[in-house]
Amino acid sequence: MEAVQAVRGMNDILPEQVGWWQGIESAAREVLENFGYREMRTPVAEKLELFARGIGESTDIVEKEMYAFQDRNGDWLALRPEATASIVRSYVQHKLHADSGHCKFYQIGPMFRHERPQKGRYRQFHQIDAEVFGLDGPMIDAEMMHMLDVLLERIGISGVTLNINSLGCAKCRQVYREALKSFLVEKGDGFCGDCMRRRETNPLRVFDCKVQRCGELLESAPRLIDYICDDCRAHFDAVKDGLEKLGTRYAVNPRIVRGLDYYMRTTFEVITDRLGSQNAIGGGGRYDGLVRDLGGPDVPAVGFAMGMERLVLLLEQEKGRPVRLPRCFFASLGEKAGQSAFLLAQQFRGQGIETEIDYEGRSLKSQMRRADKSGARYVLILGEDELARREIQLRDMLTKTQRIVPLENILETLLAVDSEK
Ligand code: AMP
Repeated sequence: MEAVQAVRGMNDILPEQVGWWQGIESAAREVLENFGYREMRTPVAEKLELFARGIGESTDIVEKEMYAFQDRNGDWLALRPEATASIVRSYVQHKLHADSGHCKFYQIGPMFRHERPQKGRYRQFHQIDAEVFGLDGPMIDAEMMHMLDVLLERIGISGVTLNINSLGCAKCRQVYREALKSFLVEKGDGFCGDCMRRRETNPLRVFDCKVQRCGELLESAPRLIDYICDDCRAHFDAVKDGLEKLGTRYAVNPRIVRGLDYYMRTTFEVITDRLGSQNAIGGGGRYDGLVRDLGGPDVPAVGFAMGMERLVLLLEQEKGRPVRLPRCFFASLGEKAGQSAFLLAQQFRGQGIETEIDYEGRSLKSQMRRADKSGARYVLILGEDELARREIQLRDMLTKTQRIVPLENILETLLAVDSEK
């Protein structure tokens, strides 16, 4: 019978890769909590309407990529394509804004977009997401990008570039939209069908177009950064000044518009030149109007999302596979010795020592072979003779030395030799 395969673009993370994931997750928790963020876990499915309102009807994500479906009651739901809208929904629903001052949240988990899968782009992928509500000053924007920098360093990723831009506010964008529209009209039919449509519905989205010809034509398009008002410019200057004071390197890139409608003022992207076309590792920005648009109070907000698969790809390129090795392996001979070894192994584990054991009463030779293959530093060998003498053999696989230890003392002995190394 033919075996069932996983859904295209949705990957298993196998034990041999999971070390990367655990390392990234624990670094993220450590760094984010250190900067005052608290974890939040929202459901993977939400009402479709949340994303349509929160991300924007005319974005690629909502128009083309969403896993939307009707459940058995006929309600329209969607698997979350990103975390921000869900976090805003939760923040508003639970009135977390009433707690006073600003709030910082983070979330780590799977997102779903029906994109064409390729290396670095999947249909289920994972993000580390952080959001701050209630602060409109430039310092938090700078601090957030600095935190990203700290996080990447803590994960062990180097050689990435932080690109920043300002999208201005609704006021400056209105003026810019008209200028961009005139440019698109002037260029006429050179653009693809999608872009022609965007020209009418949401001209800024033309910058998301992946068609090469459109990209070339856009090289000479007016730049939003040249249209921003005095307040927005002062904000942007202060963000840059903050980054410089924090020692976080950046480049201003006027082409960063981000794929979602809700961004304003500060936007940023962290990119690498080592992942081919899927070069964005993470990105984010300010979205002051979204909480209000989703029915909450008028609080400013800023956030980012980082893609974990791409972090893993970079780590694999830089460092090869992570290996997780047990410290100890119990090998035994005979039924009684096997039972004693089994109980001792549980005691070792109780002390936090990663321990493996043979469960099948195989020959000593084959157990030693498994012990060697497991990569365990210490092998403990218990035969009927040793058991009768209340002793056990302790073999150090690194130094290739072996000694006999009284059974009563084996745990203390192992803890002692292990702490010496
Ligand atoms: P976005 O929400 O589109 O700004 O994405 C934020 C980050 O998530 C990107 O920089 C990528 O690292 C990652 N990402 C987005 N879409 C995908 C995908 N389909 N597969 C893998 N990673 C993704």
